[in-house]
Amino acid sequence: MLVKIEEIQEGGLELNEAMPAALVEKAVAEATTDFFAERGFTLKARLTKVSGGVLLSGKFTVGVRAPCKRCVDEVHLEVPVEFTLNLVPRQRRAEEEAQGGGDDDGRSARAGTFTLDGANDEPFDGKRIDLDPILREQILLALPVSVVCREECKGLCPVCGQDLNERECGCERRVPDPRFAALKDIKLS
Ligand SMILES: [Zn+2]
Ligand SMILES: [Zn+2]
Repeated sequence: MLVKIEEIQEGGLELNEAMPAALVEKAVAEATTDFFAERGFTLKARLTKVSGGVLLSGKFTVGVRAPCKRCVDEVHLEVPVEFTLNLVPRQRRAEEEAQGGGDDDGRSARAGTFTLDGANDEPFDGKRIDLDPILREQILLALPVSVVCREECKGLCPVCGQDLNERECGCERRVPDPRFAALKDIKLS
């Protein structure tokens, strides 16, 4: 979804847009996560012109599913996404970096005047803002690192693969201490 800079009036621009499941699918596929998109979402966002750029804040919830990392059962998740970004025209930023005393990465210049209230900077071409890549990135940032079906999930037996939530299989699952394993080998030989 594209927003032209001239669509943003003095009082800001409010968005309340239905976004397709395909956007979520693309986000999770790009990063090769274990997640699958379940549906689209309603984007609530606000764009406000600020000196040197546009302040974008957004809020929405994505529905995804992923396997439990312990028992591989399918888990459905509602992931809240909330963010604020300071969109900085590429050209303005390049000029600023050039004035920054020739640092290689321009980090000191970027940390200067255009950062508003700790919002993260995101470059754009100065004319229009493509929301899709921004949303995809924010979705990825919001996804949990690991998914479990429930805190007390016992997972699968590493020996026989039995789902230990269903029943105890009775396998010997104690992980041998590698030092003792080495001693055992010596004794056997
Ligand atoms: Zn589980
Ligand atoms: Zn077992």
